[in-house]
Amino acid sequence: MTQNTMYDVVIVGSGAGGGMAAYALTKAGANVLLLEAGGPWYASKDSPMLVPNYASPRRGAATRLRPFGEFDACDGGWEIEGEPYTTAPGSRFLWWRARMLGGRTNHWGRISLRFGPDDFRRKTLDGLGDDWPISYDDVAPYFDEVDKIVGIYGSREGIPNEPDGIFHPPPAPRCYELLVKKSCDNLNITCIPARRSVITQPLNGRPACHYCGQCSRGCTTRSNFSSPDVFIAPALATGKLTLLTNAMVREVTTAPNGLATGVSYVNKLTGEELQARGRVVVLAASALESARILLNSKSPLFPQGLANGSGTLGKYITDTTGSDVAGYIPAMENHVTHNEDGAGGMHVYMPWWLDNSKLDFARGYHIEVWGGVRAPGAGFMGGIHRYPGGGGYGKQLKDDYRKYYGATIGFSGRGEMIPNDDSYCEIDPNVVDRFGIPVLRFHWKWSEHEINQVRHMQETFRALVADMGGQVFSPMPTKEQDYNIATGGQIIHELGGTRMGHDPRTSVLNSNCQAHDCRNLFVADGGPFVSQADKNPTWTIMALAWRTSDYIRDQIKAKAL
Ligand SMILES: Cc1cc2nc3c(=O)[nH]c(=O)nc-3n(C[C@H](O)[C@H](O)[C@H](O)COP(=O)(O)OP(=O)(O)OC[C@H]3O[C@@H](n4cnc5c(N)ncnc54)[C@H](O)[C@@H]3O)c2cc1C
Ligand code: SF4
Repeated sequence: MTQNTMYDVVIVGSGAGGGMAAYALTKAGANVLLLEAGGPWYASKDSPMLVPNYASPRRGAATRLRPFGEFDACDGGWEIEGEPYTTAPGSRFLWWRARMLGGRTNHWGRISLRFGPDDFRRKTLDGLGDDWPISYDDVAPYFDEVDKIVGIYGSREGIPNEPDGIFHPPPAPRCYELLVKKSCDNLNITCIPARRSVITQPLNGRPACHYCGQCSRGCTTRSNFSSPDVFIAPALATGKLTLLTNAMVREVTTAPNGLATGVSYVNKLTGEELQARGRVVVLAASALESARILLNSKSPLFPQGLANGSGTLGKYITDTTGSDVAGYIPAMENHVTHNEDGAGGMHVYMPWWLDNSKLDFARGYHIEVWGGVRAPGAGFMGGIHRYPGGGGYGKQLKDDYRKYYGATIGFSGRGEMIPNDDSYCEIDPNVVDRFGIPVLRFHWKWSEHEINQVRHMQETFRALVADMGGQVFSPMPTKEQDYNIATGGQIIHELGGTRMGHDPRTSVLNSNCQAHDCRNLFVADGGPFVSQADKNPTWTIMALAWRTSDYIRDQIKAKAL
């Protein structure tokens, strides 16, 4: 059934990219329809932020369908009932999908790093991958706007490829973070205050963080960023936004002239097949899901899927590289009780600090730090038997927990993967989801660059633990084990699939994230990214989505759309 209303813009997905686009376009006066596959959820009303773990018989433990813990704020995970994906023989890939208003912004780590000037021109610098068709200067004003509207803590450091933003003051380092900083100084590793989208001063009616440390459950005071409270609610307040939740988009519909006319979707509550109409369609269903929608948007005019004239739709997908090391630090034993709660994530981090010309891999990584004490849940500390002499029964067990609690420090490397021809997604011809929509099949391969980079992470983290006088819990992984590189997709920073570029023969979108083959179709998630960077991607997704929205606004005004 086709609905009568003709919207200025139809947006698919309400996460970082879609929420940003809905905010920017409604503020600009457009009538917007936002379709979201999941149900409504606002952290300000629905978060279990302060429920203690002991209030649940499960003590907060994870389940198959809530893998990051019972109270984690994400409806979704590696598996969604009735919505499979497949991997090609020999490939391993994991795909985390949220199905809720706000998508993954409800529980993300909120590490908010701008891509830097070099990240947009890597091919020029090292000959690998491709350059973006835009530069840092094109995106910088939008980074500033995101900083001002969303809010971020950090410090001005003047590091060339780690551009400073408009920061709230960062929280002070915790005790174990001071120890990390000292060892970083000893080993000449740059260690600076973290950059996270948590506000430490009031902003736009939102109060400052009160350091309860529960960001991953969602923040009832709206002191961290989630799309529903920071983007969707103000967009609804303009009166310009129509929000349809439980609307699973199947494909983009097109007219005989090749322009997009809207989308077809399934009402998940009734099973009805419906069509929504819009002058412009913006896909922001997350990078790989937007590629899936376009690959499924087949018609006689577009037999390989919409916007796929180049044959590169679904290609050049990447994820962040990842590897972890944790260790036990005797200097932290029997800690004197003190408040370490803080802003629900790290207060310090290490941006990439080395020169690749002296290394056996291209591109860098940053280091995330974890440790200290927090409200214990089921299985906390990963098992007392890992600590020297730890375990036993009764008093000895309790004493050991008191002694070792808070004496663990961990490091997670998060690095740049270079897009390659062997990592892509396509439609699996044999499998559909519970709505009858064909699913994605993934092909994945790490190159020597990523494997060597991860070896370097492991060596660095072990050197840090040693400098702190600690001992790591696991032996150095071997080359045969690929140095414990995370499975593709596991770091949940998947990008690409609808990459942008000047040349319609090698890219899906132009420099405004507008389809080369269909001028009223745009992508506003991580799909347009040409390369990954050694940064978490979401701040750049939002800045780009805002830039795309401004372009759409101007084109509508100029009657070009
Ligand atoms: C645990 C975790 C920690 C993370 N930490 C960080 C971090 O610290 N820093 C960082 O930069 N990034 C982090 N990320 C990644 C970050 O969450 C994503 O980069 C970001 O949310 C991507 O935004 P998006 O709009 O593309 O997708 P999403 O936020 O996933 O939103 C997509 C939305 O589209 C909806 N949708 C999907 N398919 C359809 C369809 N067919 N029809 C209708 N709607 C659909 C989904 O339900 C969802 O709401 C983390 C992710 C996870 C899971
Ligand atoms: S730590 Fe701060 S931002 Fe995070 S949930 Fe608590 S109050 Fe909110």
